[in-house]
Amino acid sequence: MAETLECPSCGAQTEPDVRNCGKCQRYLKSELECLRSIDAAVGIMKRILIWWLVVSFLGGVVYIVTRLR
Ligand SMILES: [Zn+2]
Repeated sequence: MAETLECPSCGAQTEPDVRNCGKCQRYLKSELECLRSIDAAVGIMKRILIWWLVVSFLGGVVYIVTRLR
């Protein structure tokens, strides 16, 4: 999938791996890396949330089983 990045300064379409805009030389990489780091942080948060839910569910099951005995 060939996606292009629109320069936030002048609106020119540039390749995502190009560091600077071909027209106005605006530095683009920092914003892409910022978005990627946000994506990574959201992914880690989701993983933590899923693990927290699994652990609390298992804890609840263990609690119920031990109470029923
Ligand atoms: Zn530009």
